[in-house]
Amino acid sequence: MSELGPGGMIAHRHRGGTVNGMEVSATFDVAVIGGGVMGSGTALHLARGGMRVVLIERGRLCRQASGANAGGMTMHDKPPVMIPYFLRARELWETSAEWLDGDAGYRQTGGFMLAFRDDEVALLENRLDERRAVGMPIEMVDAKRARAFEPGLSDHVIRATYCPLDGYGNSTLAGILYHVALESAGVDIREETEVSGIEGGAGAYEVPTASGVVAARRLVLATGVWLRPMARWLGLEFPILCDVKQMVVSERLPPIINTVMRTANQRLSVKQVANGTVLFGGGWPAIGDLARGGVEIIPASVVGNIRVALHAIPALAQARLVRAWIGLETYVADRMPVIGPLPGMDDAFIIGGMNGGYTLSPYMTRLLAQRILGHEPERPLFDPARLL
Ligand SMILES: Cc1cc2nc3c(=O)[nH]c(=O)nc-3n(C[C@H](O)[C@H](O)[C@H](O)COP(=O)(O)OP(=O)(O)OC[C@H]3O[C@@H](n4cnc5c(N)ncnc54)[C@H](O)[C@@H]3O)c2cc1C
Repeated sequence: MSELGPGGMIAHRHRGGTVNGMEVSATFDVAVIGGGVMGSGTALHLARGGMRVVLIERGRLCRQASGANAGGMTMHDKPPVMIPYFLRARELWETSAEWLDGDAGYRQTGGFMLAFRDDEVALLENRLDERRAVGMPIEMVDAKRARAFEPGLSDHVIRATYCPLDGYGNSTLAGILYHVALESAGVDIREETEVSGIEGGAGAYEVPTASGVVAARRLVLATGVWLRPMARWLGLEFPILCDVKQMVVSERLPPIINTVMRTANQRLSVKQVANGTVLFGGGWPAIGDLARGGVEIIPASVVGNIRVALHAIPALAQARLVRAWIGLETYVADRMPVIGPLPGMDDAFIIGGMNGGYTLSPYMTRLLAQRILGHEPERPLFDPARLL
């Protein structure tokens, strides 16, 4: 017997059934908490590896960062050590029909990182060699050549780096595909189910939710910006931080932009997606209070974002904006992934905290699943213990 949850209910472990009106599940091989791309991908690979998996999500699958993101897939500003991971992840998005049972909207467009000033050119030049050395096909182009790809670029752009592998995906579509693939892989998907604590340990975890207690031998924490309070339930204090990001989308427009573009000053990321809308964001913050859940758009951020966009692409002046929204992105001090077993535990794992997480997710979740299934991951994980 074991005492559980805020209601103080008593439950039998590992049996299933109902105790004190609260249903206790039969024991799963693994409970994945958080149904964004990290949790969904991990659950999918584990189920296909033969495990009995439950995926518990407070809202609906892939609606937080995994639905609010810009879907941009670019490597220009990523650390060289991450490039091989990005290259493989990009291939997986390209071949999503093979493992996600459908086209997740990936489009390879090529992409630029734009420089307006000499110091930005120097920054881009400095990045070239080490990225090429790890397999990224990146080159420096002058403004004339950049305009051959992107006739709408302004005269303010003086040089740029170009990578033909850049592109974008459709996060809404990916979420739908994950749902179908998880169901057909036999994952027990529990949406609208908030986890309120973690009990037990050492191969016998109990996860209280409003609709019952889930029993599992292993845990995967994949709750994005909510990882920090969740790790506290296991007695761990992870310095996992939250970036409150703002995005803007235009009405459908005739073709203006062919590639995905970012600026070296990190103030703009812009692309025109298949339906003609132009999506732009970048380093423009919104207000967010994670503890209370309140988020608020900052009008000055929207204006700043528009100004940088017009500075790079004047034709955007004709665009009417339809909507701005906010998404919460996880990061840690070194901006590297947090993926692997929790310190001191071999049956509880964490995944998150990475820059470019949407792009990386199909590969990082596959690597974590390999580890949980008892195999050596084909590339190294990123030890969460470094943060403690
Ligand atoms: C505005 C924005 C733009 C971005 N642009 C890009 C981009 O262009 N390219 C790129 O590669 N990446 C981008 N990212 C990053 C990318 O979206 C994230 O790295 C990725 O989606 C993180 O996935 P996740 O599954 O870890 O988190 P999330 O998608 O946030 O999923 C975590 C889930 O956990 C659930 N949860 C939390 N607490 C509980 C609980 N107690 N019980 C049950 N469930 C719980 C939440 O409801 C949520 O669904 C962007 C992010 C944002 C916010």
